[in-house]
Order: sequence, then C-alpha cells, then structure tokens
Amino acid sequence: MGLLEGKKALIMGVANRRSIAWGIAQAFHREGAELAFSHPGDPRLLENLTELVATLPGRETPIVKCDVSSDEDIAALFEALRAKWDRLDALVHSVAFAPIEELRGRFVQVSRKGLLDAISVSAYSLHGVVRAALPMFEAAGGGSVMSMTFNAVERVVPSYNAMAVAKAVLEAETRYLAADLGPQNIRVNTISAGPLKTLAASAVKGISRARDLMEAKAPLRRNITQEEIGNVAVFLASEWSRAITGATVYADNGMNIVGVTD
Ligand code: NAD
Repeated sequence: MGLLEGKKALIMGVANRRSIAWGIAQAFHREGAELAFSHPGDPRLLENLTELVATLPGRETPIVKCDVSSDEDIAALFEALRAKWDRLDALVHSVAFAPIEELRGRFVQVSRKGLLDAISVSAYSLHGVVRAALPMFEAAGGGSVMSMTFNAVERVVPSYNAMAVAKAVLEAETRYLAADLGPQNIRVNTISAGPLKTLAASAVKGISRARDLMEAKAPLRRNITQEEIGNVAVFLASEWSRAITGATVYADNGMNIVGVTD
C-alpha cells in the first residue's frame, strides 16, 4: 500500500519532464495518490503536460488552466476541481517567475514592477491558491500544502536578485499560513531544493557552477535529483510528517550548513 493511497493532490508547475513538479507528480503517483494538474495557459506547455500525464496509468486526471497571477483563474481552477473532486488532501505549488532583466546585473537596479511581478507569481500566488482551496481542505478534515524555495534567502546568490526577495516572501508566508491554518489541521511547508537544471533555472546565471559547487562541497558530495525532491514531497504529503508545519525543509545534501569551504 502506497504512502499516499486514497489522497487527492493538486500539482501546479509542470512545464516539462525536467520540472521539479513532475518529479513530485511521479513520486505521488507511485505512492497511490490521485492527481490533478494546473497549467498557465501556454499551448506548448499544455501539450507537454498532456503528454506526460498520459504516461501515468490509472484514473482520469483533471488538467485545468490557471495563470496564478490572475485571481479569476485561481477561482476558476478550484471551481473546476470541485466539480470533479469532493475534497483535496495535498497541494503542490511549484511555480515561479521573474522578468529576465531582474535576474541579471546589479541588485540595486531591480525595478519596482519587476520585483512586484516576481512576488506576485512566485509568492503571493501561494496565498491565493491556499485561500481558494480552503473549502476543499475543510472537506478533507485538513491538508498538506508545500511550495518550492531556494536558499538564496539567507545566503546571497549572484543574479538571483528579484527572485531571492520573492523566495523570502514565500518562506515568511509559509510560516504565517501555517500559524493561521494549523487549527484547521492544514499544514504548510516549503522545500528548499538544491540546484537542478530546469526551464526556470535556465534563466538564472550560474546554475551549472552552483551544481559543480554542490558536488564538490556539500556534506554529501553530490547533486540533488528530481526523484529525491519527489520523495521529500511524499513525506510532507503523508501522515508521517503530521507534526511538521511552517518549516523550510532543506533537500540540498546539506549545502545550507556549509560556511567557509576549503
Ligand atoms: P520549471 O520551469 O519546470 O517550473 C516553473 C513553473 O512555473 C512552470 O511550470 C511554469 O509554467 C510555472 N509558471 C510560471 N509563471 C506562471 C504563472 N503565471 N501561472 C502559473 N504557472 C506559472 O522549473 P522548476 O525549477 O521546476 O521550478 C519549480 C519551482 O522550484 C520554482 O518555485 C523554483 O523557484 C523552485 N526551485 C527550483 C530550483 C532549481 O534549481 N531548479 C531550486 C530550488 C527551487
């Protein structure tokens, strides 16, 4: 019997087979969860997602449009989901965006609009989707929410710029949502993953160097895989993590503890 048998999970953020959200979807599926997916509306991404979902044997899988910068889309997503499912047990937010010019050059040059756009899509969206999901979590008697962050919050990572501030907002939101929703048995955590080569990461200069550094200097002396992140997400969605909420869970082979390296 899988760890997520009988659970219904919404996965947001599969762009292609390299997406962290796809690693999570595969791990959830392996553990017996019933899945639904959202996509931002780009026909190419929808085609990728549809092809990937077709590789998962089993039940009908709802695929619904949701550009998370739109409150109307968020409302429509949960209306569509409610028409299919009576409840929701887990929500995976694996979505981020910053204008490319806000990920290059000097931090001091980050624009007001660029920063607000990054926060809107990458952080406030968590707030928006969780609020819209509340009735479905209540119907389930609780739930587990998780998002993805990167340790460019407490450490400075060159060129992460606007996205670093958006991730700081996301991590603070995680704690505030956890405190607010805990009495309803809804847990909210964020996974701080090591660097992986994905579509979103290709916009960040130096991702290959970050992976080389992790392999050479992380306590476990290796890079993280999509599958490993999927397994951490399974734990957070499962009953085994029922005492954990408001946490930033590092899945980075210990890189976050490293100060000076030799
Ligand atoms: P990805 O490009 O595969 O996923 C990003 C997703 O965000 C895509 O599916 C994209 O469609 C979606 N998205 C962007 N704007 C959207 C919008 N307005 N509405 C709805 N969806 C939108 O890349 P990824 O690396 O898998 O990123 C997933 C998450 O993991 C992000 O939060 C990212 O910051 C985080 N993360 C990535 C790394 C890494 O090294 N790749 C490390 C730590 C954390």
